[in-house]
Amino acid sequence: MQTFAVLDAESAKVLAEFLEREGIVCHPRTVEDEHGLEAVELQVSEAQFDRACELAEQRQAASEEEDTHPKRRCPACKSTNVEFIEDVKDLKTITRITAVNLCHDCGHVVAVK
Ligand SMILES: [Zn+2]
Repeated sequence: MQTFAVLDAESAKVLAEFLEREGIVCHPRTVEDEHGLEAVELQVSEAQFDRACELAEQRQAASEEEDTHPKRRCPACKSTNVEFIEDVKDLKTITRITAVNLCHDCGHVVAVK
């Protein structure tokens, strides 16, 4: 067995379920982290270690992407086909608008101040 991740209990559970769907069997083990708090070590067999690391990293990267770039949605039609347009010089001179979000599905414009 090799440990490939140490996480809080909730994250460990989510990651273990994700990996199980990919055919990787995780063996969680409750440990104390460096702060004396309860953490969960996820272990996998040596044969599945590389694959488990790879999937865990991919999943981590995907969730970070989501956090930093939340999908913009049009408030009118809920479409995510929204373009952020910064080049609105004409508007800037008469208003305090710095940019707009334009929905390509319904044409709704949301000003960003
Ligand atoms: Zn729309």
